[in-house]
Amino acid sequence: MFNAQQKLNKAITKSIDNLDAVVIGAGFAGLFMLHRLRELGLFVRVFEAAQDLGGTWFSNRYPGARCDVESMEYSYQFSEELQQEWKWTERYASQPEILNYINYVADKFDLRQDIQFNSRVKRAVFNEAIKRWTIEIEDGQKVNAQFCIMATGCLSATNLPKFKGLEIFQGSLYHTGNWPSEKINFSGKTVGIIGTGSSAVQSIPIIAQEAKHLFVFQRTPNYVVPARNQPIDPLKERQIKADYANFRERNNRKPAAVSIEYNDRSALDATREERQLEYERRWQEGGFNFLGAFNDLITNQAANETAAEFVRSKIRQIVDDPKVAEILSPHHVLGCKRLCLDTNYYQTYNRSNVTLVDLSRLPIEEIIANGLRIKGKEYPLDCLILATGFDAMTGALLKINIRGKNGITLKDKWSAGPKSYLGICINGFPNLFTISGPGSPSVLTNMLPSIEQHVNWIAECIKYLRESDFVCIEATKEAEEAWVVHVNQVASQTLLTTCNSWYLGANIPGKPRVFMPYIGFPAYVAQCDRIVLNAYQGFRLT
Ligand code: NAP
Repeated sequence: MFNAQQKLNKAITKSIDNLDAVVIGAGFAGLFMLHRLRELGLFVRVFEAAQDLGGTWFSNRYPGARCDVESMEYSYQFSEELQQEWKWTERYASQPEILNYINYVADKFDLRQDIQFNSRVKRAVFNEAIKRWTIEIEDGQKVNAQFCIMATGCLSATNLPKFKGLEIFQGSLYHTGNWPSEKINFSGKTVGIIGTGSSAVQSIPIIAQEAKHLFVFQRTPNYVVPARNQPIDPLKERQIKADYANFRERNNRKPAAVSIEYNDRSALDATREERQLEYERRWQEGGFNFLGAFNDLITNQAANETAAEFVRSKIRQIVDDPKVAEILSPHHVLGCKRLCLDTNYYQTYNRSNVTLVDLSRLPIEEIIANGLRIKGKEYPLDCLILATGFDAMTGALLKINIRGKNGITLKDKWSAGPKSYLGICINGFPNLFTISGPGSPSVLTNMLPSIEQHVNWIAECIKYLRESDFVCIEATKEAEEAWVVHVNQVASQTLLTTCNSWYLGANIPGKPRVFMPYIGFPAYVAQCDRIVLNAYQGFRLT
């Protein structure tokens, strides 16, 4: 199949080597970008490394994979017809349902014809003489385009820790972020899973039901609150659909573009009983609403500790063995790593076929042919699952050899951490756009509205360039540096920089420790709009 696709790619080359725009990635961002640019009449090609659509939702198909933003919100809002006709079945959509939705959108807007699959981009080079990008695919195909748009995803480059001996493991090895298409049967198998982030929290309860035994290897415990997933409430669905535009508008005015109900009160002004009531109500409702319980949870350590202790008390209530409950209890700031939503996560540790192994003091020594070893003790395993996360926000971009003006590579430019203006454009790299790049709200928000805002901004920018006879747009060095300072200033007013999160790149050995996302969706959108109104302030148009 791959050879046939390669031949097809070569045949296409002759007709598509001169494009207006190349979009890299066919997930939510790439698909909408293609749609918007086609509306503007541009000749566009999308290159996708995988064999089909979906981006992160194509590759993250591990057992239990599900979105943690509610389905009525985690969907496109650009088409009223689409948002009216699509019917979600659950409060939080499962990975297969999201993939169905993405395919439905691609068919409805006839997007597939401009997408080339099995086409991993390995190089993108800006040719200064002709002011165009040359984009090269792994199989050697080259195209050139005026605009190069990276829709490569924030969480798409998997983190594969360099465990000693990993290559000699004889059992089945999986990564949650790159899960095979076929169903994996764990029944009768002894399974090990490394990691306890969102992916592990979702998959552990499902795998535990099937496996003979499940060993969970945990380095740092996470805060996990109930998702309370359930079939979609038909009344709520009708109410939202009756006024979808306003529902979206209200959410877009919230800090994370999610319908969290924010309490305008400090946790420290409330009595112990009042706090307990507020946390308990939100715990019972489920979801990220827990984070809105008080207005100072991410800015005041003492306030945060009240929420953290509430979750720890729940862990002690749910988990039968007090020693296991203690190992599962986090002590970092709640929310400085992404809060996890669960269905039966803590309850799973009461099963007799589940063992929690604490790596906090004794790391994995090495992987061996039939399992792994920790301080001389061997754990025989048939299957090993790496739920070890991603080289977030910059990983997928830096996997491509991107060269801008004067031959400078993005890798060199970002050697001390990513620098970008608005998370959209990079000084030295004209006509290159990054959708939800570092320096934009992206992963701290509902990704769908964030993606749509970026795509719309980029489409309007390209329209303006064409109508005004400009050939190139480039962020100025000064604007870019000021933006990087601003992103860090905003972050430093919160507690989000206080732990070893992937927001800071701290999960990847050697990655510069820089807080990458921008905190606050509405302020960000206002800033983007203001810049346009001020004739693309901070950009050089030529
Ligand atoms: P993650 O949150 O980065 O978790 C990775 C886990 O692997 C952590 O527990 C980490 O421990 C552990 N780990 C990494 N390297 C290790 C090593 N060398 N030895 C032992 N343990 C190691 O990754 P994720 O769970 O895939 O989630 C990433 C993000 O994807 C989430 O935060 C979320 O934004 C998104 N996501 C969302 C959903 C959803 O919508 N429901 C589902 C899955 C993922 P440490 O904490 O000690 O580093």
